[in-house]
Amino acid sequence: GGRRRDRLPVAWTLASGDTARDIAEAEHMLDLRRHRIFKLKIGAKTVREDIAHVAAIKHALGERAAVRVDVNMAWSETEAAYGMAALADAGCELVEQPVASTVALTRLMRRFPIALMADEALTGPESAFELAKVGGADVFAVKIEQSGGLFNAQRVAAIADAAGIELYGGTMLEGPVGTIASAQVFSTFANLQRGTELFGPLLLTEDILATPLDYSDFELTVPGGPGLGIELDEDRIAFFARNAPRKTISLAE
Ligand SMILES: [Mg+2]
Repeated sequence: GGRRRDRLPVAWTLASGDTARDIAEAEHMLDLRRHRIFKLKIGAKTVREDIAHVAAIKHALGERAAVRVDVNMAWSETEAAYGMAALADAGCELVEQPVASTVALTRLMRRFPIALMADEALTGPESAFELAKVGGADVFAVKIEQSGGLFNAQRVAAIADAAGIELYGGTMLEGPVGTIASAQVFSTFANLQRGTELFGPLLLTEDILATPLDYSDFELTVPGGPGLGIELDEDRIAFFARNAPRKTISLAE
């Protein structure tokens, strides 16, 4: 082994639930060349409404972007069976954790031409092994916190590889430090077929790094310096500290 990736594809989540607004946001991200993989959060509306939403977005974006969905365990198994068939017809390439149980995930596997990704079902190497053993997922979403840390995330990935399961680098919406810790681990994975969703820092309005992270050409650059490869801006850290002395506003000139 030893080959390290220095760039990671980064997906973006569209979660407004408003079809026109989500299409406009996706078009904006394509124009910026920041994201071309879009994950739609669904499951709050009826399955039919959700499918219509996903189909309209995929139709608008066409081959310029990949469209995936995350159901966050909201569907019953029968809803998932209907939903996965319809999502495949709509051109959606992957469905993340449509149902809660590993048994139901396993029964849904290979019945529809759409990849099935496990997220909540993965809580570290033991659950990864159980899921791999029963064939309960095509793809694992690996998150460092959910795996039990950096080393256990590596172990989850090794189990996936050994079982022929694809990998995706997940996020708990960490800031820049946690995101780069994740990126450093994901960059060492032998396979990372589905890219990552390391967009947490892009949600923040303030930076705490001396050099901002590089999101460009649809990817995040994995910093190559010592340690995590990032440097904190100590002045910014001091400013945001809970008990930081603040400049008092003087009313007198
Ligand atoms: Mg998820």
